[in-house]
Amino acid sequence: MAGIGSLLHRSCRLLMAGLLAGCATSPTGRQQFMLVTPDAAVEIAEAAYMDTMQQLARHGKLMNDPRLAERMARITGRLAAVAVEEYPHTARWEWSVALVDDATVLNAWAMAGGRMAIFRGLIEKLRLSDDEIAHIMGHEIAHTVANHHAERMSMALAQNLAVSVVRQNTEENSQAAPIAHTVATVALTLPNSRSGEEEADNLGMRMATRAGYDPRAAVTLWQKMAQHGGSRPPEFLSTHPDPASRIAALSALVDDVQHLRPVVPPPPRGVRIYAER
Ligand SMILES: [Zn+2]
Repeated sequence: MAGIGSLLHRSCRLLMAGLLAGCATSPTGRQQFMLVTPDAAVEIAEAAYMDTMQQLARHGKLMNDPRLAERMARITGRLAAVAVEEYPHTARWEWSVALVDDATVLNAWAMAGGRMAIFRGLIEKLRLSDDEIAHIMGHEIAHTVANHHAERMSMALAQNLAVSVVRQNTEENSQAAPIAHTVATVALTLPNSRSGEEEADNLGMRMATRAGYDPRAAVTLWQKMAQHGGSRPPEFLSTHPDPASRIAALSALVDDVQHLRPVVPPPPRGVRIYAER
């Protein structure tokens, strides 16, 4: 991954020179502050994702569940088909889902470039239907097509790594690849901005509905999420605050998107499933 190292090293130097800061516009017209370009975010995320997959495999944390693998491939494949139709550049992405074998974790996440993960706990503890899974993965895919990861990497770079970047640029032996990994993983743990979340909810609901899933399931998904746990809410909520207001917002959207639901769902696009074989 020498390419990523030199890419980020170059980005860091440009960042220091103040040349790379810029704005982009999201699919819903929101202004985005970008230090990391969307293409760079995809490249950085690839290395971080593959590293994460190796660690999960090494620790026996990938599920051995062919039926779930087939189910996730079908649901995510239909969503990916819709995403590629709306955002043709995403046809180049290696759409992927890791099935993480941890029944105690209620979470799902995505990195830039359509690389995702879902945890056993989320599916089993909330007894998610196909439609509800489609809405959670649709929400994650919405984050990826709207370049929220590049945005969050930009924040991570600007807020948390300035000191490391300065130090790295003064050292002869570049530590750019570990920094790239840190940027990708820090970006994953940053809370999503409220406007970014509204955008992901909105786009995700539309994509899931266009993929043939019931839009009302977006509401029941968040109701289940909000009701679960008591003292220990789902991990997903730690980066997704305020379920009550989003339930209200999603309920209000249901009627607007119903007409997008096709009679016949689109054929699933190929999605790589990371699971124990
Ligand atoms: Zn989100």
